Amino acid sequence: MSLNNKNLQLEERKTWDKDKYGRIAKQRAEEENKELLNLDLDTLEKNKHNQHKRVYLEILHDFCLYLSKLCILSTSNLAIPYKMNKKIKKGHRGAIIKRELLKPRNEHVDISAKIGERVVITKDSDLSEMGGWYCHDCKCQLKDSHTYFDHMNGKKHQRKLGMSMKVPNSTLHEVQVALEKHKRTFQEMQSTDAYSITEKLEKKQLHEQQKKKVQKQQQKDMTMLSNKLTNNKNANNNNDKQSTNEVEIEITEEEMDPEMAALGFDFQFGGSNKNK
Ligand SMILES: [Zn+2]
Repeated sequence: MSLNNKNLQLEERKTWDKDKYGRIAKQRAEEENKELLNLDLDTLEKNKHNQHKRVYLEILHDFCLYLSKLCILSTSNLAIPYKMNKKIKKGHRGAIIKRELLKPRNEHVDISAKIGERVVITKDSDLSEMGGWYCHDCKCQLKDSHTYFDHMNGKKHQRKLGMSMKVPNSTLHEVQVALEKHKRTFQEMQSTDAYSITEKLEKKQLHEQQKKKVQKQQQKDMTMLSNKLTNNKNANNNNDKQSTNEVEIEITEEEMDPEMAALGFDFQFGGSNKNK
């Protein structure tokens, strides 16, 4: 009997009741869904409540501002809505202001304008005159151009200018226009490139032709000169054969260049004409 019992126990452990566990899983999933739904409803209600509160505070703030302008309320009383606002969102100082969307900077920042400039910095000199870069909006000094640009593009500076870091969503039309523009510029670039290549090729061909012409002319001149030289030499030789030894001595002494003679050249330009 004991053996049978053991077998039964083992069998019980091994078997998997699909229906039972399926039911449990389904129940758990339903409960989780319910919880999620409840949570969503709760958060929705909370958000709604906060929105109402926010709108009310904004109206109150505007009203206080209006009263302060009419000199009925002092500006210190404007802090009331701020204090109430703190309960909604911790760390938020001041009224809720709707900031503009992020816009590109129009003015050019010349970082190399101060190169070569000499500044005397003393203890009493103003922070804006302490060298480096200075932001007049935030009244802070930056040590180098990199940090200066980081600051200019940063959240703090943009907030001072009344902008949030949100970029406006571009419409389909804007995207299409931008794509068309890029396409046009690309095509123009390609056409100019092609033009420049053909122009360059033409220029190169012209240059080569001119070079060839010059080379041909030089070769012609060289051959002419060498022919002339050989003719002169032959004429000289003939004259030498005909003339006496005395004449030869005269030529070598009177007309021949001493340097040329020293080098061993015995020809003479125009010597043949004179001899004739
Ligand atoms: Zn700044």
